[in-house]
Amino acid sequence: MPEVRAVVFDCDGVLADNGSSWQNIHDYFGTENKEMLARFLRKEVTDEEFVADDVRLWKSVQEKIHRDDIMRCYSGVKLMQGAREVVEELHSRSIMVAIVSSGVDLLVGTIAQMLKVDDWAANGFEFNEEGWMIGGMPTIVNSHDKGQMVEKFARINQLDPSTIVSVGDSGPDLSMMIEGSSFVGFNPIRAGAKDAFTKAGVPVIESRDLREIWNPIFGEDFSNQG
Ligand SMILES: [Mg+2]
Repeated sequence: MPEVRAVVFDCDGVLADNGSSWQNIHDYFGTENKEMLARFLRKEVTDEEFVADDVRLWKSVQEKIHRDDIMRCYSGVKLMQGAREVVEELHSRSIMVAIVSSGVDLLVGTIAQMLKVDDWAANGFEFNEEGWMIGGMPTIVNSHDKGQMVEKFARINQLDPSTIVSVGDSGPDLSMMIEGSSFVGFNPIRAGAKDAFTKAGVPVIESRDLREIWNPIFGEDFSNQG
């Protein structure tokens, strides 16, 4: 593998030890959207249509939703085991760290701040000045084409794709692997993720300790670092 200059992480299920930052909100309101999720995964609905339907469901439970309600959904979410150590070691090697997530910006931004990453992008909601939810924000990160954002990150930072490694936990995350770059599949517990990774011929880490990605990226175990 050529010199690594940047690692781009997915957030939900990779840097954050949660399933999905959207599902966290459903858990809070006691709603579910399995049918829309299935249609979304078949690319029959867009990110924006998906969010609009979620917001409709949540507002059927609670008419007015405040930003603080959404923040509360994430109060129990922890960093993935080893995430802090991995990001610190990458930074100590002057390797850039970014997050490209189609998850909710309120969580992703918190994780980004905790880990002091260099750049991040995510989706989310629009709130009015008093913090009440208006609806979904226009899509920034397209779940099925996260590569757009990885390309933008590469362009802005003048990085050759061959120096970029992306890390994701779901099939659609493979779209982060822009032409010439590498990918590591991590924690593939979502339906179809492991098959998608195997089919794509990328390394797969089935543990839930992020330090395990060190070996496929650098060819040595993390325990030998620091
Ligand atoms: Mg994920």
